[in-house]
Amino acid sequence: MKSSFSTAHTPTTIAIVGGGFSGSLVATHLLKTATQPLTIKLIERSYQIGKGIAYSTNNNCHLLNVSAGNMSAFAHDPGHLLRWLQYNRDDLAGFFAEEVNPSTFIPRKVYGLYIQSILAEAEATAPSDVRLERFTDEVVGVQPEEKGAMISLRSSRCFAADRVVLALGNSPSAPPAIQNNDQSYLRNAWSADALADLDPDAPVLLIGTGLTMVDMVLSLSDRQHRGKIYAVSRRGLSPIKHQAAQPYPSFLTPETAPKTVRGWLHLLRIEVKTATSQGYDWRAVIDSLRPITQKIWQQLPTSEQQRFLRHLTPYWDVHRHRIAPQVADVVIKMLDSGQLTISAGRIQEYQALPDGVAVNVCQRKTHVNHTLQVSRVVNCTGVAADYRRSPHPLIAELRSQNLIRPNAIGLGLDTDTPGALYTADGEVSQLLYTLGTPRKGDLWETIAVPELRGQAQELSEALLQSLPVRVRAIPTLPLLTDHRTPEIPHSTLLFRQFFDPETSSYTYLIADQQTGDAVLVDPVLEQIDRDLESLEELGLKLRYCLETHLHADHITGAGKLRQKTGAQVIVPQNPAVTKADRSLVGGEILKVGSVVIEAISTPGHSANHIAYLVNKTHLLTGDALFIRGCGRTDFQGGDPGTLYDVVTQRLFTLPDDTLVYPAHDYKGRTVSTIGEEKRLNPRFSNRSRDQFITIMNNLKLSYPQKMNATVPANEYCGDFIPQESLELAMSSVTDEEQKQIERTVTTNTEIYNDYFAMYI
Ligand SMILES: Cc1cc2nc3c(=O)[nH]c(=O)nc-3n(C[C@H](O)[C@H](O)[C@H](O)COP(=O)(O)OP(=O)(O)OC[C@H]3O[C@@H](n4cnc5c(N)ncnc54)[C@H](O)[C@@H]3O)c2cc1C
Repeated sequence: MKSSFSTAHTPTTIAIVGGGFSGSLVATHLLKTATQPLTIKLIERSYQIGKGIAYSTNNNCHLLNVSAGNMSAFAHDPGHLLRWLQYNRDDLAGFFAEEVNPSTFIPRKVYGLYIQSILAEAEATAPSDVRLERFTDEVVGVQPEEKGAMISLRSSRCFAADRVVLALGNSPSAPPAIQNNDQSYLRNAWSADALADLDPDAPVLLIGTGLTMVDMVLSLSDRQHRGKIYAVSRRGLSPIKHQAAQPYPSFLTPETAPKTVRGWLHLLRIEVKTATSQGYDWRAVIDSLRPITQKIWQQLPTSEQQRFLRHLTPYWDVHRHRIAPQVADVVIKMLDSGQLTISAGRIQEYQALPDGVAVNVCQRKTHVNHTLQVSRVVNCTGVAADYRRSPHPLIAELRSQNLIRPNAIGLGLDTDTPGALYTADGEVSQLLYTLGTPRKGDLWETIAVPELRGQAQELSEALLQSLPVRVRAIPTLPLLTDHRTPEIPHSTLLFRQFFDPETSSYTYLIADQQTGDAVLVDPVLEQIDRDLESLEELGLKLRYCLETHLHADHITGAGKLRQKTGAQVIVPQNPAVTKADRSLVGGEILKVGSVVIEAISTPGHSANHIAYLVNKTHLLTGDALFIRGCGRTDFQGGDPGTLYDVVTQRLFTLPDDTLVYPAHDYKGRTVSTIGEEKRLNPRFSNRSRDQFITIMNNLKLSYPQKMNATVPANEYCGDFIPQESLELAMSSVTDEEQKQIERTVTTNTEIYNDYFAMYI
């Protein structure tokens, strides 16, 4: 129920902790359905909102374990994912070859893009006073206040929120605790370095034989690993293959369901027997239970739930959470060849060896001990859900304040419908809510998309219902309207040009003065203090850092600005660029408050280059068009013919008074117009395409000096510079340049360490 009316000026704030599938979907629903001013703060400790552990894999062979027909993000629109896949068919062609239909198992990586695009679309179409703010940070504390709470971030920033959603998802389990000082051989399956530096012939031990083990086997197969792979778990059960099956009619209601685990097992066995005798597959019997599994679980007494956890969980998991047929085929092939063995046993001891580790395993049935000598041990034991002991800093903090109550059976937190948390005193919190994995003890089946999407929608509805009603002010009418684009209020545009003398690069600050929303285009790492100062002076909030292309002459400041402000990094679509929050293609529109930025695809200088047309009046041309010149075309997929076509057939068709703002100028010029460049640019004016190509192919320019370090660093949005690129770059620079690079590297190494620390 709505609690009260308020006319307070600060908008109501909902903080969402965790930007995986669950957090992103709650934010999406809030953006789509809020009918009053609202700020949604979405805080994600990793760099990619929308992906979480499940969908941040970069490996194309890691497929969804639910087919596309059942993975729509919206329960009320089951065909949504399929339509999105169809709509983006050309852009996604590199990810999977086959034609998509409802039974296709798509790569998890593609699903991550889907979630990101849903959130972006909801953000772009939300009313201007319903706003999403993204933070790349970790929430470490929630301190209740008279109204709402103060949220503390690891970066020492804090802010107030009226409601807090804990969308914390999956934390990796600890491997079997065996004392051994040298753990250098031990890696976590979800860390970036799980298989790094592994000799292709080296034997590997995977602890755990569930879905995470399957992921590791696929990764090893993908990198053509030749060494032996041992997978060990207590029962040695591994996920079973999906198979198309005729649906089985529901045979049970929560009311008629047995109330003991034994009764359950008995009933299920009989039903499977009956079903198979009628030509049904056993999988269809299990699947028919899905709509009522949560209710059945909730009806079991605690002692029976514990019995289920002790004896049946692994059996339930392998039958219920099955794998795509093509994934199963890889596993079966490796088993048949003898390269992979899956066995039941218990790890007893690790003994470090000069080139690996000897692992002593006690076999389940025979109790015979045997030793495996391996070079790497990978923890594939899956998700940790015991919040009584969870080392997660925020959970530990909430536990110590009695703001949450861990579930008595060691699975998640006690919750009320639709996700309000219980305090340790047994009260239903008006402040803290959750969904997904933390509700496992209450709901059992709660970690997969078909369950999460419903929870996200219900929770967002309940959150909006719980907020005090706020009234909107009548918007101030713009004083002046641009004559060419009457729909765009010109007076709200703030446009500033900044210069980096070292590389002669321009950065542009563009903002809506009324809302304070701002974007920086092509920021330079060494100049971010200047940029931050300007934002602060002008009272602006940085929403986006936008790149025109992958720069070769300087490292972008985007990654660092994201760290400091929570802004999103948006780049032209380019598979080489990782760590961006979103990518853009030509024709897309980005709205910053009321400022409209249109992306214009302008390849030629480099393959993935975009110019930005701001409010139809200011054109940021990047390196496609300079004042009286243009960018080079001899690397990064550049092509002179393409550049000529793009400039003459696209940019030169804009109105003559369109202002031209390039990414560089080496002679102190700041701005031109399309009309001027059409007349006076010596590369294009009165030049044929062939003449232009000849000019460009004979420029004989040396490569930018720091290119070996800048390009790889920009592929990571400036977050860090890969070590090998540094070494290459360092080998060819002067002393002064070396000092400059070292200064940059120190900054980036810190970021690099922070980044990976999260996954270890
Ligand atoms: C490897 C794997 C594969 C899967 N495959 C499928 C599948 O094919 N189909 C399916 O339906 N389900 C699948 N799942 C289930 C999966 O749990 C859900 O689909 C979904 O991704 C869960 O999303 P989530 O947001 O609840 O959790 P997560 O994806 O774990 O996201 C939680 C996020 O919260 C962030 N976070 C945590 N604490 C903090 C903090 N204090 N501050 C800031 N950020 C924080 C984390 O960094 C993380 O990004 C898979 C799960 C895994 C692990």
